[in-house]
Amino acid sequence: LTDDEQQAFSPLSLSQLSQIMLDNPQARLVAGGTDIVLEITQMHKKLGTIVYVGNVPELQTFEEHDDKFVIGAALPYSEFTPHLAAHYPEFGDMIERIGSLQIRNQGTLGGNVGNASPIGDTPPVLIALDAKLNLRCGDKVRQIAIEDYFVDYKVTSQQVSEFIESIEIPKPVSKAQQLKVYKISKRFDDDISAVLATFNLTIENDVITKARVAFGGMAGIPARAIHCEQALNGQPFTQAIIDAAKTQLTNDYKPMSDVRASKDYRMTVAQNLLQKAFIEISQPQTNTGVVQYA
Ligand SMILES: Cc1cc2nc3c(=O)[nH]c(=O)nc-3n(C[C@H](O)[C@H](O)[C@H](O)COP(=O)(O)OP(=O)(O)OC[C@H]3O[C@@H](n4cnc5c(N)ncnc54)[C@H](O)[C@@H]3O)c2cc1C
Repeated sequence: LTDDEQQAFSPLSLSQLSQIMLDNPQARLVAGGTDIVLEITQMHKKLGTIVYVGNVPELQTFEEHDDKFVIGAALPYSEFTPHLAAHYPEFGDMIERIGSLQIRNQGTLGGNVGNASPIGDTPPVLIALDAKLNLRCGDKVRQIAIEDYFVDYKVTSQQVSEFIESIEIPKPVSKAQQLKVYKISKRFDDDISAVLATFNLTIENDVITKARVAFGGMAGIPARAIHCEQALNGQPFTQAIIDAAKTQLTNDYKPMSDVRASKDYRMTVAQNLLQKAFIEISQPQTNTGVVQYA
């Protein structure tokens, strides 16, 4: 489809998509369209050349291996969430809070990552899980750690003509691994996060043998809390260590104030979420929820 300023392609295979991206390096990908179309409806922009990826079967796949899931970049949330939730229940619960059912039937992981928003909900979880992105350009595929994809506000390490083909998510390696995911938004349903916290903690004999911590909404990109992780790694799982790790969050992030939350609120809630994770793991009988949702 073409007019004077706009062109639209709808490839039917991965090889067609790759070639179109090589031939049209400025093209914008459209998967579910639930983010990119806002540029038309809210900003009245023309998108120029667009490439719809929803008809590319190779991007709609879901594979479950012994050690990982491989999720096609254009597979809608609704299609894979139950499989993921079986291994990571809190990740599944969080995805159930992305937009509405209509958004989850349409929106994709590739779009959530490719949008590179600091408040996209899945990137902090994927970073804490050490997920990998398979990026394709022509017939070449390279794999990067997802944390290396986000470079600066809305800037990624994706090269010209490159696109996300799939996302690889490691499965839990042991029963000692706990994934805690917290989405903080003004409304429970269908709202954008002010802060999204993920704590991926392995605790063996009351010692934190592995900690990966990542947040959204705390910086210009979704990012790991390296200082916080260092305060946790190899340490006993005690209140004193949690307090030290909470303090370290101030070295990891300098959050901004905006319409969703003030910078002070963001830091306070981030620290409180680590406390909440500690209580939920160390005292599972304690009810940390304010409200029980039906
Ligand atoms: C009402 C509403 C509620 C929402 N609620 C939430 C929410 O709670 N949490 C949340 O995180 N988001 C939310 N969103 C945003 C959006 O739904 C998600 O980010 C969704 O995952 C985007 O996926 P998509 O397939 O629709 O992306 P698209 O809109 O198709 O694309 C988004 C961006 O990613 C790029 N892209 C798409 N596919 C690829 C690829 N394979 N490789 C590289 N780049 C690619 C596009 O070019 C574009 O820049 C909401 C949106 C709406 C309209």
